Amino acid sequence: MNNRVHQGHFARKRFGQNFLNDQFVIESIVSAIHPQADHAMVEIGPGLGALTLPVAEHLTQFTVVELDRDLAARLTVHPQLKDKLTVIQQDAMTVNFAELSQQIGQPLRVFGNLPYNISTPLMFHLFSYTHAIRDMHFMLQKEVVNRLVAGPNSKAYGRLSVMAQYYCQVIPVLEVPPTAFTPPPKVDSAVVRLVPHAVQPYPVADVRVLSRITTAAFNQRRKTLRNSLGNVFSVEQLVALKIDPAARAENVSVEQYCRLANWLSEHPPTQE
Ligand code: SAM
Repeated sequence: MNNRVHQGHFARKRFGQNFLNDQFVIESIVSAIHPQADHAMVEIGPGLGALTLPVAEHLTQFTVVELDRDLAARLTVHPQLKDKLTVIQQDAMTVNFAELSQQIGQPLRVFGNLPYNISTPLMFHLFSYTHAIRDMHFMLQKEVVNRLVAGPNSKAYGRLSVMAQYYCQVIPVLEVPPTAFTPPPKVDSAVVRLVPHAVQPYPVADVRVLSRITTAAFNQRRKTLRNSLGNVFSVEQLVALKIDPAARAENVSVEQYCRLANWLSEHPPTQE
């Protein structure tokens, strides 16, 4: 049997289509999401409805964003779903989630078994809307979940860890083997819960500055900070900010990155 065909649909690689087929895994994910009728649930990449159908049992109305025209069309005529779904046939990377939240009149609860080829940029897109989001549950590559939850002084700790933890509380939920999907992906997967902070633990004046500093530091993660950040922070300045100039990017906590960002926002480098 061709394992790229699921429920009569030929899985499209370019859309990262790996459909969940394991009822136990599906029920565990839906129970972790805990959908409720008065919440503004939004699914990204509903596909053939593996999560959509059990979630719909709890709801009267919700929104799904599906890029694949054929799959979006199937959902609009699906006997159990058609009356409950608002189907947005669009690239989730271009959806304005703040506008959507405003239309619904509530912060969004976003979930999905994400297409792995765009999961990191898609999360960054969603991070820019955390003010309009109540929580997010995503199936991702396990390696990406490890990076999201990683703390300092570990290999997995990187820019994604710092930025995700700046915006959200990050909670791993469950691990999922390749056999739970058709076709099976080449990697292990895991579900993560991301809850935007109601009160920022380490507020920064300008998140773009935080983003630039973490990019500079982790792009040269083997170098010490005095080298990787040397063109924006002097050794004296790092010491004054209580950050060891001999440390490497992976030794610096989220709080310390936020401290660096706030100092730099107040002392922008002078243009030559
Ligand atoms: N939720 C289904 C399941 O668990 O079986 C499908 C998951 S599959 C990994 C990813 C889904 O996201 C596919 O339906 C795919 O067509 C859709 N998709 C891919 N890229 C997308 C994008 N940029 N925006 C919205 N949906 C996308």
